[in-house]
Amino acid sequence: MSRKAYRGALLHLLGDPAVDGPEAAAVFDDGALVVEDGHVVEAAAWDAIAPHVAGTPVERVDGLIVPGFIDTHVHFPQLDIIAAPGARLLEWLSNYTFPAEERFAHRDVAQEAARFFLDQLLAHGTTTALVFSTVHKVAADALFEQALARNMRLVTGKVLMDRGAPPGLCDTPETGFVESRALIRQWHGKGRLGYAVTPRFALTSSPDQLEMAGRLLAENPGVHMHTHLSENHEELTAVRRVYPDCADYFAVYEKYGLATRHSVFAHCIHLSDGEWARFARAGSNVAFCPTSNLFLGSGLFDLGAAQKAHVHVGLGTDVGGGTSLSLLQTMNEAYKVCQLRRHAVDAFKLFYLATLGAARALGLDDRIGNFAAGKEADFIVLDANMSPLLKRRLAVAKTAAERLFAFAMLGDDRSVARTYVAGELAYRRC
Ligand SMILES: [Zn+2]
Repeated sequence: MSRKAYRGALLHLLGDPAVDGPEAAAVFDDGALVVEDGHVVEAAAWDAIAPHVAGTPVERVDGLIVPGFIDTHVHFPQLDIIAAPGARLLEWLSNYTFPAEERFAHRDVAQEAARFFLDQLLAHGTTTALVFSTVHKVAADALFEQALARNMRLVTGKVLMDRGAPPGLCDTPETGFVESRALIRQWHGKGRLGYAVTPRFALTSSPDQLEMAGRLLAENPGVHMHTHLSENHEELTAVRRVYPDCADYFAVYEKYGLATRHSVFAHCIHLSDGEWARFARAGSNVAFCPTSNLFLGSGLFDLGAAQKAHVHVGLGTDVGGGTSLSLLQTMNEAYKVCQLRRHAVDAFKLFYLATLGAARALGLDDRIGNFAAGKEADFIVLDANMSPLLKRRLAVAKTAAERLFAFAMLGDDRSVARTYVAGELAYRRC
């Protein structure tokens, strides 16, 4: 029994502010988070908590306590090609992504990269992620091992890709199936880990492979499905050519049993009204990746359309197509994309998309995403003094929403003073 209280300013979301209104945000200027054995006991105003914590160690926190950020779409082998310029999706894959991913056939490369990647996530305040690995089983193994060692709640899987890529990055429908099944048996449900069946996208898997992916999902209830959908116009044209029997892009995934409530589709920029309606009926989920969508010139995601369809959306960094592992930076770009779509988004909604909204998109909101009693105690401390400019801006902010908005626009990894995983300190900036 290791009960401890952290006292400071505190914020978490109890619902979607766009649906549930301002009461969705629980904000305490003087609040406290009580943690025991890796789980949340309670989070509330200090005055309400003080009578319950006699004998419990109380640590004063200089900063804002918020739930750990959740990245719903990121590629761990692509850290070395972040900020590679001058290409749109399909050429970017050939010119930068595939050469970088070929190196992950080597266990040592994958191990070193997995360590660096997870340490970077924690340094950016991200405690859970849904992660693309490479086609190599050793790379998925390496990431699972390192996440288990850090006790992180992480979902990943071996990429399925049997065409449209160099030979060193291709499996076959059979080897993809056998290796994925072995990985599911070894890792899914171990510690805080989860498995995602991960076809890269419709263009890099044959119909046979997509059918095998559907079988894997049907045979392993609770396993996630993670892929890309409707990112770029050239991609859409190619999908129409390759799958002429499917009415639209989403229909490809529907046909092979890949559109489920455990499915997370990155991007979803160019979905038609009909696709949104079917997407919602399937209970599928979106990873909204604004820094990547702007960087690769893919288009502007329509958060309003997703909201209207009652689809769960989480933010994704999509590094290396995305330009930052910081969910604060990602909130910043998400806000601007919504501005261009004439869709109003406030600071609470931005934090929702990186915490509870993302947890809902991953189907993990019974365990993470806010400080409801019994949830896993993944949390971070944001530092108001990270830069002279943020400090100055916060000094004149009049409301909690204004303060949060300043964090979202001006913050990055420097804003993360500490990161806690299941109640244990996992990162401290200095
Ligand atoms: Zn991606």
